[in-house]
Order: sequence, then structure tokens, then C-alpha cells
Amino acid sequence: MSIDTKALGARAVNAIDDRRDALFTLSRAIHAKPEIAFQEREAVLRLTEFLESAGFAVERGYRGVETSYRGDARGRGPGPTVAILAEYDALPELGHGCGHNLIAMIGTAAAVGVQSVLDSLPGTLAAIGTPAEEGGGGKVALLRAGGFDGVDTAMMIHPTSGRSLAGRHSLASNRVMVEFRGRAAHAASQPDQGINALDGILQLFNNVNAMRQQLRPDARVHGIITNGGSAANVIPDYAAARFSVRALDRRYQQEVLRRFIACAEGAAKATGTELALTVNENAGYENMVFSTPIAERWTHHMKALGQQVFEARDEERVGSTDMGNVMQVMPAIHPYIAVSQETIPGHSIAFRDHVVTPEALDAALVAAKALALTAIDVLADPRVLERARREFEERRARGVVKGRQ
Ligand SMILES: [Zn+2]
Repeated sequence: MSIDTKALGARAVNAIDDRRDALFTLSRAIHAKPEIAFQEREAVLRLTEFLESAGFAVERGYRGVETSYRGDARGRGPGPTVAILAEYDALPELGHGCGHNLIAMIGTAAAVGVQSVLDSLPGTLAAIGTPAEEGGGGKVALLRAGGFDGVDTAMMIHPTSGRSLAGRHSLASNRVMVEFRGRAAHAASQPDQGINALDGILQLFNNVNAMRQQLRPDARVHGIITNGGSAANVIPDYAAARFSVRALDRRYQQEVLRRFIACAEGAAKATGTELALTVNENAGYENMVFSTPIAERWTHHMKALGQQVFEARDEERVGSTDMGNVMQVMPAIHPYIAVSQETIPGHSIAFRDHVVTPEALDAALVAAKALALTAIDVLADPRVLERARREFEERRARGVVKGRQ
């Protein structure tokens, strides 16, 4: 028996429209109380209460990650498990400069829309809250803890400006903490007795700057000094910096990381300091490889809803996200929705201020409807997931994605 997805889709869209005001209020409330990585307690409370009121069975602190959650809604029989993800962390000092208040609303709206028609569909819908995308790697922690076991496909949407995209690549990355230790001494009367830890950091920056010219154009190595000493008249005995090391694929990124470590070792040797270098394992983000059969469904629904969706350009400037880690183990999508016609840089005050405007909220709600319709397609028509799995297996054979290990 085939399922009338048109009729179900119309019902799901109505269910989202019925909650429009409540969803906008939810998004604005998360925006007004920005919480950084792994501290998103109020946002989680709001999102899980919303899901519960719509009939989801919610587990908070999912898989031991305090500010994660999972809300399940079951269909009328066995079938695939589709996960719709939400992010809700803010940036330190800047607040919601990445618009995760919209991601949270989109994920919740789409989940509620699908749930309203699940009595006519097989399978399970899982609304999974994934904290700490901005550097903390909530999805990495969840993957490691088995939080995506049994999930067949995962989907979420990220806000951007200018043009909506069905998907684009992202950079594989690592965050690295670098510390140099030396010996303190009076900077004027006994400088020869000191070992200058700050010189280790400065030499590292110089080495990195020299290396940069010999890197591929997609590689990114950038850092800040987090500790440079305490007083000008004291030779610093401790100095520290944080770096990100990124590239388009993991193999080259690891090569750049090895060269970065050599830069740090060389700096320590030259300055006589002791080096401690820590690669943050949770913040080791993989590059994104989105599922084209599922992304095509989202694009189809966006167009049917009167929206334009563009192809990513090859020279697209991109960042990194822990959604890359999810995409390495299952077919998944992460489209970008333009919440502003004009281009506004991400992680900026202007973007933060824009993501609560009516224009942004309306655009996000349309994207959420298209996401709900996409999830309904996956649950209703086994061929969509079959095509997605076939593409994933071909990519795995070519070493483009890892698969489950
Ligand atoms: Zn973001």
C-alpha cells in the first residue's frame, strides 16, 4: 500500500502553522538567554517541554551528555529511524551570532510537524538535541556514547544569508592548546637568568606564518594568545595559545597538524622552553559530505513552497561543524537557509541581531516545513533511503566517508 505523502504533508505543514506563534516565542526566548557550550540548560528545558507537549517521549541528559536530549515519536509499525537535530548553543560574549536559536526552532518545528502525521507512517522520529556545536563537539560526544546507534539518517538546517543551499562541504578540523613553560626572572636586572615562555609562542606564530605559504589554499591555521605573562618587568614563565587547524579533507588536515606540531617543537627548541601540546579530541570535526538523494527531496519541497535553492560554488568559503562527524557515519543533510536577502557575515553582531527579526523567523519556518516534508518522504518511501545508502556505500568504498566502525 503506498502512502499519500501529499495529504500527510499538508497536515504536517498545518500542524507547524498552528504553532507558529509558540515556535517564534521559543526561538526568541533562546536568543534572549544565550548559553554557551554544555551550559544550555534553559534552552534544553524549553525545547524538551515543547516536544513533550506535542506528544514526544523525552529523555533529558541523553547518553550522559547533560544538555543533550532525545524525544521519540513512533509511527504505526516498524520502519526506519529518522533523526531531526537541534543545536542551541551560543558564542562566548557574542550571544547567538550563529543563529542557533533558529536551528533549535527549525528542528523542533519539523519534528512536531512529522509527529502530527506519524499515525499514518512506519518508523520512528527522533528529535535529538545536540549541544556545544561551537567548539565543544556535542555530536562527537553523542556519537562516541552510541547516541546515533540505530539512527538511519539525520537532518538539520543552519541559517545563513544571501542564498539558500541544499548543502555544502565543511573543513575537517582540530583545536589545539599550546603551552610553553620557561623560568621567571626580573626582566631588567636578571634577564639572563630567565627563560621566556612568551618567546615560545611568538616563535610558534612566526613558524606558522612561514609555513602558510606552502599550504594548500583550503588549509586554515589560526590562533590567539590566551596567556602572555603577568607583568612587563617579569620574564614570563608560562604562556599559552589556542589554535584551529583545518583543511577540506581529513588526510590533508592531519598532515597540516603534523607540520603545526613541528612548528611548536621548533619554537620550543629555539627558545629553550618546555612545550605541552594538547589536541582536543571532542573538537576534532570531520568534513561534511551530504546525502544528495535526501538533499534533493528538501530542495524539491523548498521550491514547491516558493523558495529558491542554489548549488554550492566550488570556491565557497566554509567553516567546520560537528555535523561532519555525523555525515561520516550515515547519510545526512545540513542545508543552509538564507534568513536574509542581504549578505551578513556569520558570527557577527549584525547576524546576531538579525536572527530574531520577523524576516529571519519566517524564512526559518518555511525551511522547517521543507524539512518535515523531507522526513515524511524518507519514512513513507523506502526508495529514498535505499538511494541514500547506495550513495553512502559508494563513497565509503572510495574512502570519502568512514562508515560505522
Ligand atoms: Zn553554527
